[in-house]
Amino acid sequence: MKAVVYKGPFTVAVEDVEKPTIQHPNDVIVRVTSTAICGSDLHMYEGRTAAEPGIVFGHENMGVIEDLGQGVTTLKEGDRVVMPFNVACGFCMNCVEGYTGFCITVNPGFAGGAYGYVAMGPWKGGQAEYIRVPYADFNCLKLPQGNEHETDFILLADIFPTGYHGCELAQVRPGESVAVYGAGPVGLMAAYSALLRGARKVFVVDRVPERLQKAEEIGAIPINFAEGDPVEQIEEQTDGIGTDKGVDAVGYQATAQGTDNEEPATVLNSLIRTVRPTGALGVPGLYVPSDPGGPDEQAKQGMLLVAIGRLFEKGLRMGTGQCNVKRYNRFLRDMIIDGRAKPSFVVSHELPLDQASSAYNKFDKRIEGFTKVVLHP
Ligand code: ZN
Ligand code: ZN
Repeated sequence: MKAVVYKGPFTVAVEDVEKPTIQHPNDVIVRVTSTAICGSDLHMYEGRTAAEPGIVFGHENMGVIEDLGQGVTTLKEGDRVVMPFNVACGFCMNCVEGYTGFCITVNPGFAGGAYGYVAMGPWKGGQAEYIRVPYADFNCLKLPQGNEHETDFILLADIFPTGYHGCELAQVRPGESVAVYGAGPVGLMAAYSALLRGARKVFVVDRVPERLQKAEEIGAIPINFAEGDPVEQIEEQTDGIGTDKGVDAVGYQATAQGTDNEEPATVLNSLIRTVRPTGALGVPGLYVPSDPGGPDEQAKQGMLLVAIGRLFEKGLRMGTGQCNVKRYNRFLRDMIIDGRAKPSFVVSHELPLDQASSAYNKFDKRIEGFTKVVLHP
């Protein structure tokens, strides 16, 4: 079968690889109908991780069940399903508490597994014609038959729940004001989720005009940090108080204001300034324990200069960590089905799997409007 294979920094190729087979009675094989490229795939693509050539990418996957192990009880051939990017067992101490992003069964020695991602276990990615899904009863979320809402449902694998998770970590409540840093796909999903949760005023900080325009289209207030300190711009619109809540949808690859230089702590420090005393920050943006491409020795070891004193002084709470997709994907699916949510406004391109190589290249360079790419094998 065809799959997107990592060949080395800035190169992927669509190649023939072995088609997956049932390895365990609770496995299913899904024929992939949609698989999305994620900003976090670019960390591997750019050679910033320990990903070895040969890895098949793809943690955002959906499709139709083609084969089932004998132990699968709730699914059948032909079911249309979407899988959380988290591979989870459903029965370990973290899974039973709902922390499926920190499953201790699926990736020994570490908490958390994912498809097609370095250090996240042996699970092959779904940017391919087929994918093997383990613990299938737990990991497959059933979808209505047919092909309606395809580009909405594929976002249930990661970015819609991840954006929502940012709001959950920040405990966004109705009537609150929220600052979301980053208007990439996850930032837009966080802003969208804040509005779904009843936030009164949602600011979205970025410097790319097209992204800010998207934010405005969904009812958020765009803040262009190229035009001045975003904290001051938000203060002006919140009576000098700042926002109730904040979401970091950028992570460690943030750029400093007015330059293209990476400054990994800049968003965290801006958020600590932006959010009012006793507010809360949600950090779904990715930070890593080590970053070979970091701008200085400390950043290379995953250590950043964060204004912890100011965080304490303001009594701010901060929630971090990757999304436990299964906590949210069922009700977010139902909101899509009922017409209450339509997250596919972030999808910029739908392409055949064959075009993955050029899609990665263009998405990485952020050219031709490439923001969120869905591949159809
Ligand atoms: Zn993703
Ligand atoms: Zn588990």
